Amino acid sequence: MTVLELRGLEAGYGGVPVVRGVDLDVAAGEVLALLGPNGAGKTTILSTISGLLPKIAGEVQIAGRPTDSRHPFRVARRGVAHVAEDRSIFFGLTVLENLQVVAGLHRRERRAAYDRAFDLFPALRPLVGRPAGLLSGGEQQMLAMARAIITDPQLLLVDEMSLGLAPLIVQEMMPVVRGVADAGAAVVIVEQHGHLALDFADRAAVISNGRVVV
Ligand code: ATP
Repeated sequence: MTVLELRGLEAGYGGVPVVRGVDLDVAAGEVLALLGPNGAGKTTILSTISGLLPKIAGEVQIAGRPTDSRHPFRVARRGVAHVAEDRSIFFGLTVLENLQVVAGLHRRERRAAYDRAFDLFPALRPLVGRPAGLLSGGEQQMLAMARAIITDPQLLLVDEMSLGLAPLIVQEMMPVVRGVADAGAAVVIVEQHGHLALDFADRAAVISNGRVVV
């Protein structure tokens, strides 16, 4: 089943397109890697999918229905989780409070969500009470990933997971992302290190100057 479809997507800033007519499909169970040089438009594509950036033209469909790209919360409610390049965790909140933001209203749901987060990343468990701003870069990335995954997304978008992280930590995170796809979600990752991404992605698209070139 196709989860994400981009058709003729154009997006950019101040009306100036930097993504110029991108067509892509990602199926359930699949990891697509977006590769390409700095400034190619990879982050812009992810932000347009999740509605953080309104599109200029074209279509974004999730599970066969167009998204409302003016309202990111509506896109999120349709099962799209976006781990942005800056990780977007709440630095003043503790690890547990960051998870609580998405963990459901009922105590049982919350407990299950926390257990799942700590099963994914056991290193977070002893840090539950620590403000997220005091975590290391790798721990912050784990928290951002855990927070996205416990929402059970049908589409997970991950921007530059490896940015600033030690190779060992990246190697720990990659199987978690793979596992999300193996459990049935569609996953799009943006990765500067092509060799890392190609180790566990099913397909890759090379973006250059706002277009899919390979
Ligand atoms: P990187 O790997 O460096 O993050 P990228 O492929 O993700 O690159 P984008 O961040 O999508 O590329 O940027 C595409 C183009 O849009 C670049 O020319 C960039 O300078 C421009 N751009 C990005 N964000 C903005 C913004 N907020 N305002 C204006 N231009 C922007």
